[in-house]
Amino acid sequence: MQGLRETQASPAPALRPWRLYLGLLAPSLIVVCTVALLAITSVKVLAAVRAYVSGESLWSKARHEAVQHLLDYAHTRDPLRYAHYENILVVPLGDRQARLEMERKHPDMARIRSGFIQGGNHPDDIDGMVALFRNLGDQPLFRDALAAWVEGDALIDRLRDTARTLRMQIQRGDPPTAITPTVMALRDINDQLTDAEKRFSASLAEAARVTESLLVGAIVLSALLLSVISIGVMRRLLSRQAAHHQALQAANERWQLAAAAAEVGLFEIDIERDLIHMDGRASALYGLGSEGATLPRPQVRQMIDAQYRDTLRQGLSDAVAHGVGLKQRHLTHGADGIPRLLETTGQMDRAGRDHGQRMVGVVRDVTAEQAQADLAAQRDAAEQVASAQRAFLSRLSHELRTPLNAILGFAQLLHLDTGRTLSAPQAQQVQWILTAGQQLLALVEDVLDLTKVEAGEVRMHLQPVPVGPAMGASLALLDGVATRHQVSFINRLPAEALHVQADPQRLQQVFMNLLSNGCKYNRPGGHVTIDARQEGAQVVIEIADDGIGLSREDAAQLFQPFKRVASTPHAIEGTGLGLYIVKQLVERMGGQVAVDGQPGQGARFTLRLPTADTSGPVLAPTMG
Ligand code: ADP
Repeated sequence: MQGLRETQASPAPALRPWRLYLGLLAPSLIVVCTVALLAITSVKVLAAVRAYVSGESLWSKARHEAVQHLLDYAHTRDPLRYAHYENILVVPLGDRQARLEMERKHPDMARIRSGFIQGGNHPDDIDGMVALFRNLGDQPLFRDALAAWVEGDALIDRLRDTARTLRMQIQRGDPPTAITPTVMALRDINDQLTDAEKRFSASLAEAARVTESLLVGAIVLSALLLSVISIGVMRRLLSRQAAHHQALQAANERWQLAAAAAEVGLFEIDIERDLIHMDGRASALYGLGSEGATLPRPQVRQMIDAQYRDTLRQGLSDAVAHGVGLKQRHLTHGADGIPRLLETTGQMDRAGRDHGQRMVGVVRDVTAEQAQADLAAQRDAAEQVASAQRAFLSRLSHELRTPLNAILGFAQLLHLDTGRTLSAPQAQQVQWILTAGQQLLALVEDVLDLTKVEAGEVRMHLQPVPVGPAMGASLALLDGVATRHQVSFINRLPAEALHVQADPQRLQQVFMNLLSNGCKYNRPGGHVTIDARQEGAQVVIEIADDGIGLSREDAAQLFQPFKRVASTPHAIEGTGLGLYIVKQLVERMGGQVAVDGQPGQGARFTLRLPTADTSGPVLAPTMG
């Protein structure tokens, strides 16, 4: 689940591995090479010093034996001794040849080599000896040793001169007394040579010690430097890594929050291994609990409704083959047995080639969304049907109104025609035509109103309307109706003027409908009481009667087209459209209407309309 837990959306630049290695290795490599170079140099210098020291001991031994042969020669006068002396002297002479050659600007290595070999030095040591002499010979450290060597060579020259003098004296046959000064001179030179050798050895040893200390110091310093650089580089790299990691974590948390807010689960399909990794939300959507899960793809496939499987498989194959995205809905029967409609949106991960082929995506529950969409589609379809019905009704009403008016007109002519006397049954029949025609006309008018209201064709001219006068005009118009039903109006509107924001004509239509219902659904001797009061930003108007009333269940059914209460006596004429139109009109004026009542104890209709701002002009209502 690595890919799901750590989503790459980091604002910090990722540290590339090669830069990381270079940053760490380059300084370390430089210091390590320096330490190695110093170590090799120190070993070579010390080996060369050791070679010079052993060369010096050979030199010293040769010098000692040469002097000893000369002293024996002086004592025994045996020429063999002199020959031994000459043989042994080649050692210091060889070393001198090498030294002189090394001092030249362009030395002859062959001469140096033959000189040192003649001096008894090991051939393998010669290169180191030459390097030390030429590189460090003129340094203060080695200057004393070199001076002692030069002095030693000069003393050897003096020894050779004295030896030649001795040989001449002996060949001449000089008496021992004549030879004694020469022997003394030999001993003196020998002492001086011994001194020079000691100085050579001592200064060489000192130089070796100092060199060793210097080299050890340099190595220790380099090691310290290496540690400091490594710590510095490591700290820098670690802090960058930490910052990078923090940025990653923050991005991951942001993504998790966003995914939680959007209620989407994350999934990853490992194409090669045919595995599906899901985070907690994704597995919950498949009814697998809230922990993340990794399942073989066929197992997840089993949870998908059979009719969606092939399409989903095809979609995934296309995504893998062409690198395109996948977006599909499928019905699942999760492990918890709850069916869900899920929407899967995935993309092939091109950046993650190292992980093999994989698809990364989100899954969300669209069951409710789909249900809503289905409902909306049904509602749209129903609305279309209703709209067609409205159009039909409107057309029908228009078509009916014209012949109906003609029927009513002719019936009224018959009724009023004084020139012709109708028989009693005929007069009764004409009256029936008139009554039925007026009922039909009222129905046609209501239907036309209904279709207009539903189609949103009723224009509202909202303005401040005084409630008292508007109600007064309606009551006056319904005087005849009240008398016919033997009902009296009780107007309890308060003395102070209440103004509502309404369309004056439509408000009157609402009042008349409720008042006429109060008369119709009443009993002889009943009352219709009108009340009003200010309540916050609204004016509340109540029209209550003490007529046949209605139950709470019936009240809940009102305000629907063609709805009449079942218990309402059939003799009371009506279409069941009035209250529906009242509700539509009141709501279009920004108000509400409600009803309550009890069977046999009357009904009360409560209107709530916005209070008008009366700082401007107020229109007085007109009758009708
Ligand atoms: P109509 O009066 O033409 O039938 P309405 O929409 O005005 O249509 O009323 C619908 C129904 O509500 C009526 O048929 C009646 O059953 C019930 N109703 C309306 N007003 C009252 C009232 N004041 N008292 C009792 N029932 C009423």
